[in-house]
Amino acid sequence: MRDVKFGAYVYEPEKASGFDFHLLRVKIETGARIPPVQDMYSNIAVFADNAAARSHPDWISQSPLGPARMGNSNFNIYWSVVCATQPEHRAEKLDYIEDVDRHSLGVWLNSQYFADHGHCTCPRCKELWRKSGLGWLEWRRKEVTDYIAQIRERVKKELVMCIQPDPVTACERYGVDFDDLAKYADAFNVVMFNKNYATPWYWEMLARGFKKLLKKPVYISLYVYGPGDTAKDVPSASELLTVSVRCARAGIDGILYLASGSSQIRDFQKAAVDKVELRERLKSYGDQPVQEVLGLVKSWEKIVG
Ligand SMILES: [Zn+2]
Repeated sequence: MRDVKFGAYVYEPEKASGFDFHLLRVKIETGARIPPVQDMYSNIAVFADNAAARSHPDWISQSPLGPARMGNSNFNIYWSVVCATQPEHRAEKLDYIEDVDRHSLGVWLNSQYFADHGHCTCPRCKELWRKSGLGWLEWRRKEVTDYIAQIRERVKKELVMCIQPDPVTACERYGVDFDDLAKYADAFNVVMFNKNYATPWYWEMLARGFKKLLKKPVYISLYVYGPGDTAKDVPSASELLTVSVRCARAGIDGILYLASGSSQIRDFQKAAVDKVELRERLKSYGDQPVQEVLGLVKSWEKIVG
């Protein structure tokens, strides 16, 4: 039995072989949804939602640096993001999350918080803040935490909080307090997507930092091959193997690999298996967690052979 768990994190409802668990993106940031699957976990983007923003332009999160609309380069935003206090969006998502939980193994949420720093200054948020009597950051934190508490009441199975890879200013940027969320979450998933992992020490440092901060098990997610990518857009198998080993030795509890579907996962498995020399070299990188990553890759030999 391994201590480090390995997951395949995919956009298509097909399970890749050779993983401990499977996470399906049932609602993505475009707003598109697919049905949940009974024996997979479900990933839901909560407030990042291009479709909702398109249908309800007045729902978009506002700030002194402009709205959380795709293309506003003041922020690290790749999608349009709905205001985190929008009551209809909140209510619909609560029902949706409850339903998805019932029809799958549990729910992994992302963008379940404010869009970024300075958000949201829409008239409703300004009014809610004023009435609360709290400081601005304290009010935002309470809004996020209270909503997570409501979600927890609806989710009977596993509830995992996906968070941005920012260990220091999550509260200022997103209204996310790690200890607040730990009260309701079964685990955290630190999203470490990048199109290359040429500097693995930074990721290892982040993994170590989050493992120190977070009071629940810590997963990390690595980027393998997204929808629309070509082979030259994505991290090499060597980088992925190295960063996996280095984050595993930082003490994290699991690693997920994001790909558009199970066939892209399989291509990665094959490429990883083929890195015979690197796999041998990485054996000297650490003890049990490192050997578990390498053992996983070894187990893939049978799958891709
Ligand atoms: Zn607002």
